[in-house]
Amino acid sequence: MLGEACCFTILYVLLCLIVIFPPDEIAGMGLTVEKLLASFLGSEIMNFVQYHQRRTTATVLVHSLLIPGYLLWMRQTQPGVYSWMFHLPTFAIGTTVLLFLSPVLVALCLALWWHHNNWSQHPLSKSLTHFLDERQASHPHSWLALATEINIQYRRVDKLSTQISSTSQLVAIDSWLIQVNSYQVCVLPLEDTLVVLEGAINNTLDTRPFSAGGSAQILKLRARCVSKNVPDLSFRLSSTLMSELERKLVIPVLNSGQVVVQKSLADQFLEVFLKTVSENPPYLEKPNERREEACIGCMSAPSNVKLDRRCRVLGVERPAEGGGEAQCVACSCRPMWCVTCLSKWFAARQDQARPETWLSSRAPCPTCRSLFCLLDVRLMMQEAPAATH
Ligand SMILES: [Zn+2]
Ligand SMILES: [Zn+2]
Ligand SMILES: [Zn+2]
Repeated sequence: MLGEACCFTILYVLLCLIVIFPPDEIAGMGLTVEKLLASFLGSEIMNFVQYHQRRTTATVLVHSLLIPGYLLWMRQTQPGVYSWMFHLPTFAIGTTVLLFLSPVLVALCLALWWHHNNWSQHPLSKSLTHFLDERQASHPHSWLALATEINIQYRRVDKLSTQISSTSQLVAIDSWLIQVNSYQVCVLPLEDTLVVLEGAINNTLDTRPFSAGGSAQILKLRARCVSKNVPDLSFRLSSTLMSELERKLVIPVLNSGQVVVQKSLADQFLEVFLKTVSENPPYLEKPNERREEACIGCMSAPSNVKLDRRCRVLGVERPAEGGGEAQCVACSCRPMWCVTCLSKWFAARQDQARPETWLSSRAPCPTCRSLFCLLDVRLMMQEAPAATH
């Protein structure tokens, strides 16, 4: 009987581990705290901060139930052991039940304390108050202003959000770096955050091709707040996402371990795209036509490319691969994109399994859908103003 009870105990421990660290298969079936309590937690995309305050509280409560759950499990699977236990003296039974229930009571008190006063006691609200100046921090709800800023930025499509382990997620939005864990959410303001690249692990187990999202390198990173005394965030990130993270950072990454970072396919293509395009003659813009318009893709870089069908004039027009009809078509759109966004647009419309064909392929213009090739992409350049005497 004792052997059997041990087996069922081990089985219960394994079940608990699956609940605490859900593998992808379980998460895919929707058997996680977040998915099961989705209607109570609300929308992550609309209210990121409030969603995670509720989610961390619910996770603490659900995980604390696993301990008394063991008593129920034994009652269902081992009635012999269970009834033996109830022949013990009342004092022993009372102490055992209290011991098993105490984590739930502690979790319940913690949840009530966190929820008290509109979540102002939750660790996430507390950590947000660290980044307010002293005068603002004295007001109990001042963290809500930063929470609103995070919620708004999280809704944007250009955020970086990636799963870094089965229970933790890294999010980089316009002005915050956020690490989401089961029981806590850590935030750092990007303008004061220094990310240190401490090392890399070459991942020989990931056999997916590089072009299919496989990564040969995992980077070990540590994010540190340079202005406030708050704990560092340490996390691992695939090298293919490094450039995306770097685009969000204000302070450049400190490569303390002199690590050679393997570039993603999109970054490697951007380099080749830039080199090829810069060999085309630039499109001269007259000084009076000068417009300072931001790229409509990234809203930050100036729009600096013009699609101008040159391949036909040059007589190098190639038939489409596979004998298709596709040929470049003249595009009369005004310049609205930067070269980086156009390169990403071009790469996204190619056969991802055959990167060797990309340079000789075509993509539709992002605005009017006319096909263009790399020869048709011209960088804008301002014509020198005529010398006046
Ligand atoms: Zn752009
Ligand atoms: Zn066009
Ligand atoms: Zn062309």
